[in-house]
Amino acid sequence: MEEFKYLVGIVRCMGLSGKIRFKTAKVSGKLAKSLVKVGKGMGKSFPGYLFLKIGSYDCLKELAKTPRVGSIIVTGTNGKTTTTKLISLLLENDAPISYNYDSNTLNAITTGLLSNNIDYGVFEYGIRDVAHAFPDEVCKLVAPIGVVYTNVSREHSLVAGVSNPFDKYLMAKELLCTPMKTGVVICNADDPRTASIGTKKEAEIRVNYYGFDLESEDKTMAKPDVDCPLCGSKLEYSTMFSNHRGKYSCQCGFERPEPNMKLTELTKEFDAWYVTLEGEVYNHTTEKEIPVFLKIKTPAFGLYNLYNLLCAVTTYASFTNKPENIESTVKKITNSLDLSILPPGRFEIMKVGDKLVGMGQGDNGDALNANVQFMCEYVKDDLGFIYTTPDTGEDEIFEDHLQSVIAANPKKVYVVPGRTSVDAAKNYYKIIAENLDADFYPLPYKEMEERRSKIIDLILNSPYKYVLVSGCGPEHYMWAELKSELKTHMN
Ligand SMILES: [Zn+2]
Repeated sequence: MEEFKYLVGIVRCMGLSGKIRFKTAKVSGKLAKSLVKVGKGMGKSFPGYLFLKIGSYDCLKELAKTPRVGSIIVTGTNGKTTTTKLISLLLENDAPISYNYDSNTLNAITTGLLSNNIDYGVFEYGIRDVAHAFPDEVCKLVAPIGVVYTNVSREHSLVAGVSNPFDKYLMAKELLCTPMKTGVVICNADDPRTASIGTKKEAEIRVNYYGFDLESEDKTMAKPDVDCPLCGSKLEYSTMFSNHRGKYSCQCGFERPEPNMKLTELTKEFDAWYVTLEGEVYNHTTEKEIPVFLKIKTPAFGLYNLYNLLCAVTTYASFTNKPENIESTVKKITNSLDLSILPPGRFEIMKVGDKLVGMGQGDNGDALNANVQFMCEYVKDDLGFIYTTPDTGEDEIFEDHLQSVIAANPKKVYVVPGRTSVDAAKNYYKIIAENLDADFYPLPYKEMEERRSKIIDLILNSPYKYVLVSGCGPEHYMWAELKSELKTHMN
């Protein structure tokens, strides 16, 4: 690492400019890329970091021209990583691409652009608030041909100790596509927040919407309390799909846009789901409307991931330079899909002995709600819920979580701290205990191994055949480890 610092220093002292500076930055970035390839984690962002240290933002603008067709940036609250992976799997079947996911920064995007001979760059970009990201600047620098929105939900209400109001959070997401003058924006029609971003952008460029065209699965599902992103009045929902996703309208005239790509049929079996995707999507490379009709098999991975898949197929059909391949490529890729596509700590349903256990991260209200909804499809008897709490100052996340915990209708809730504060967890437990039969386990963060083995213990010794384990907690340190420990008990 010292060598790199030295190199950066020399180049800066030399006061390089223009072409030489770009070339030096590129060579150094590529050198770093080949060097860190063997290492883990850092390889996704360090070469880009080095490139940006040596080069300037002007150099990045130059580098952004590397993909022959262009770059696609994926953002949203939940599902970014899975969606980025799926888009990459589909596009790379048709053309050479570079991609980066799970590392959410401009450094990671820059690293991805340090590739030769590519048609596309596909990059995940996370935006928590304007202070910690500069989405409009990123758009100007990378000049993407596509900005893709998965969904926008309430999450971390505190970012680095500063309150992050939802309207500002939504605005930050919108800014990522605001400077776009050409290309296509992909929005979730069923999510009023991302749909509103598309509605505003429609006057300038093409927007391809995706959404479900199904009956509500559960007619008793509570209608969510969602404000119109345009005027602030309460939205009226006629159909609900999941959480705030559904068919909605507002007195101001804002309503759910008609999706260009729809999921029109869904049949579920224990190990596989069957879906029909159909519609007509504007394709950026041919500048034509492409009809799409697909019957495909997917893993039984929850409604949430169906949205990710629908989003990925819509994005792929919008940008592939081989639209004649759409049907065969989607079939080929979905046929070989399994749950390993999901990030390691994500929700999964497993058979353990005579029990059915749903386990995985549910960090924000929307994610936990999706997990509960998915698990409840399988629950035929009493359910035990091991709930891992948010931290101090995350009362808003807890408020959303509490609704989901109650909706799951568990016989018993086992409350375990998910984050650092055991005191905060105890306070959340007290509120849960007012509503449901609950026990509290004050397991400290520092003794994570003990926390994990107690959770495994609770599952294995639970009197209930159905056990749901979800809530907050570190993705790898807690969830991925828990899942692999549980899998050692699988039959
Ligand atoms: Zn309105």
